[in-house]
Amino acid sequence: MWTDSHCHLDAPEFDADREAVLARARAAGVGLLVLPAVEVAGFDAVRELAHRHGAAYALGIHPLFVGRATDADLERLRRALAENRDDPRLVAVGEIGLDHFVPGLDRERQRHFYVAQLKAARDAGLPVILHVRRSADALLHGLRRIPVIGGIAHAFNGSSEQAAQFIERGFKLGFGGAMTFERALQIRARAATLPETALVLETDAPDIPPQWLYRTAAQRAAGLTGRNEPAELPRIARTLCELRGWTPEQTAAITSANVRAALPRLAGLPAMEVGA
Ligand SMILES: [Zn+2]
Repeated sequence: MWTDSHCHLDAPEFDADREAVLARARAAGVGLLVLPAVEVAGFDAVRELAHRHGAAYALGIHPLFVGRATDADLERLRRALAENRDDPRLVAVGEIGLDHFVPGLDRERQRHFYVAQLKAARDAGLPVILHVRRSADALLHGLRRIPVIGGIAHAFNGSSEQAAQFIERGFKLGFGGAMTFERALQIRARAATLPETALVLETDAPDIPPQWLYRTAAQRAAGLTGRNEPAELPRIARTLCELRGWTPEQTAAITSANVRAALPRLAGLPAMEVGA
């Protein structure tokens, strides 16, 4: 059974056919999904989706959403973590982090929310799900100041030195659709050579489409969305199988075990619940 360690099932892109998306994921052998929140307004939605569909969830404020977040939202996050502390489906604080790729974002504001949420995770004893985009060193700097129990650096695309520092701090590294592109040499090098205990799989659906769903700007303008979905995970994983020389069964077992190690509260959940 596969584990999609990062899926935005609450995204509006899935409003029209969420049940069918989940049915396809289950049919494809994706037995567990982790649903990170992106803003306080979505906390109830991810929690309810996780409970309704046997998934896990995380609560946090995404760096691309801090522009409209406030310090009161940080208080709401702390309160939500406290209120749901006995909910076995709440497995992490996330999606939090820093985006140094998208132009025009306020880095100081991102840092403020990142640091505050690291503290909330530390105080709650929860791991974190990190958004890393040209920001690995800055994220590691925060983790050195405010150590948490670990987590997942999602959509990892850094150097082997940066990977080693995340691993040293108890993190697994997330790989998904980006590694299906032949030109993704750095990502493929990491996926091929990192310790097998460090690798987790993810779709980031509806985002980060794999190569076969990629649409050009012209195609998107013509209405082709290229929406990614959790049922794509086994096909995305074929790249990892090829890079590592693993069978799909091995790949599913190794990466699912790694997600459980990164997010220890998953151990309290029965497996293969999607669609239950
Ligand atoms: Zn995400």
